[in-house]
Amino acid sequence: MKMLLAGQWVDRDTRIEVRDPFDGSLIDTVPAATGDDVETALAAAEAARETARKLSTHERSQILTRTAAIVHDSLEEYARTIAREGSKTITEARKEARRAVNTLTLAGEEAKRLQGETIPFDSFPGGERRRGYFERAPIGVVLAITPFNDPLNLVAHKLGPAIAGGNSVILKPATVTPLSALKLTEALLEAGLPPDVLQTLSGHGPVLGDVLVGDPRVRMISFTGGVETGRHIAHQAGLKKISMELGSNSPVIVWKDADLEAAISSCVSGAFWAAGQNCIGVQRIYVHRDVYEQLRDGFIERTRQYRIGDKLDEATDMGPMITEGEAERVERWIREAVELGATVLTGGNRTGALLEPTVLADVPETATIHHDEVFGPVVNLYPVDDLDEALAKANSLDFGLHAAAFTRDVDTAFRLADGLQCGGVMINDSTDYRLDSMPFGGIKSSGLGREGTRFSLQEMTEPKVVCWHLGD
Ligand code: NAP
Repeated sequence: MKMLLAGQWVDRDTRIEVRDPFDGSLIDTVPAATGDDVETALAAAEAARETARKLSTHERSQILTRTAAIVHDSLEEYARTIAREGSKTITEARKEARRAVNTLTLAGEEAKRLQGETIPFDSFPGGERRRGYFERAPIGVVLAITPFNDPLNLVAHKLGPAIAGGNSVILKPATVTPLSALKLTEALLEAGLPPDVLQTLSGHGPVLGDVLVGDPRVRMISFTGGVETGRHIAHQAGLKKISMELGSNSPVIVWKDADLEAAISSCVSGAFWAAGQNCIGVQRIYVHRDVYEQLRDGFIERTRQYRIGDKLDEATDMGPMITEGEAERVERWIREAVELGATVLTGGNRTGALLEPTVLADVPETATIHHDEVFGPVVNLYPVDDLDEALAKANSLDFGLHAAAFTRDVDTAFRLADGLQCGGVMINDSTDYRLDSMPFGGIKSSGLGREGTRFSLQEMTEPKVVCWHLGD
């Protein structure tokens, strides 16, 4: 595929191979953007600010609604692209493609709900005879940087609101999964987006990133990715708005009165969805000691039923990790935990990029797999005795995206919802639940700001005040 730069689909001599992580087969190649391309993208994005701003609300809304329809009509094609370039099985990929349709539809609707307010300027002496209002104005050029694990929907979460808000956008998708983003770019143009309003640059983040991120023409960076990359970007950004959707290490508390079957089924899926490469994936489960053995045995049994392998096979439950190197990293973390005293209850073996879904117990707090984001198919079980202990342990790390609790008792549910330190608490669902319209984001090292169509749209626009002095 080609990349979109200054209104043209362009190619470059140096191309990046996009390979299927399951068997290493070549899917396609994309151009490797150069330093000159970065400059062209910045200049083109700046020049297109007025084009983007002057699109009427109904035009922005229609472009997004039409794009949603295009993705919907080619859902299987999008799902196959997601499944081939990334880690998701075809079933998981179909769900992501359907969600991207929702995200784009919501962005089209939200464009029409972007409103300001009148301002009572005469609230204090000296403001009399003034009338006015604020409206939401586009922020200008938005730089959107996206990760590999949701290669379509997370791109939709940035492009949708940015376009709804009347912004010009530069998109830098993950190098290993650029195809879904480029296909979405094609759909937006087919739906009527003026081609100069979006620059989609394929290429390596560490090569292109610093100049893009530091350039003053970029007024906002909307980044989703790892904490380390996020920290680096924040250092480089200078004086501009940043929104950061980063990693986590999500805790679930299963209380003694919980529906254990529901907890097991939801947490197994939440731990191993997309081979665990999921920012809200379940990583630590704190279980009341009275039901620990029952939950543990059920969890092991359900995990052992997982079929891993070819992502395009309808019967496959879990695919490979994104690269063999990533699978090796997680294998090393498991080995370190075992050396420190952890027990492998099931899984732990690796073939290439395929790592078995793995359940650990007795994991010490010093183990990397306890305190860092594993971003792989591993979940740790811990017995706990009371709610204070469960809350203290769940909150003990420097992450806070989602947390979850399973209980049938309303008081316990409220106490946990109140005490869990994070951006979202799921009661009787695992941490892996998200609605694309809800405010989504984290506290501590999990991020800054909130995504979710309506909330991103607020972040990607600024209040602009108009005040009329009516004279005396
Ligand atoms: P990553 O390595 O941080 O990469 C994310 C994006 O940043 C990629 O497009 C990458 O480009 C780019 N990048 C790398 N270095 C850069 C630099 N110096 N300047 C600018 N851009 C740069 O993350 P990942 O491995 O793709 O994704 C996994 C992480 O994302 C996990 O930590 C996960 O929790 C997090 N995540 C968070 C959310 C959320 O909503 N909170 C959602 C999904 C994922 P290249 O691909 O070219 O390196």
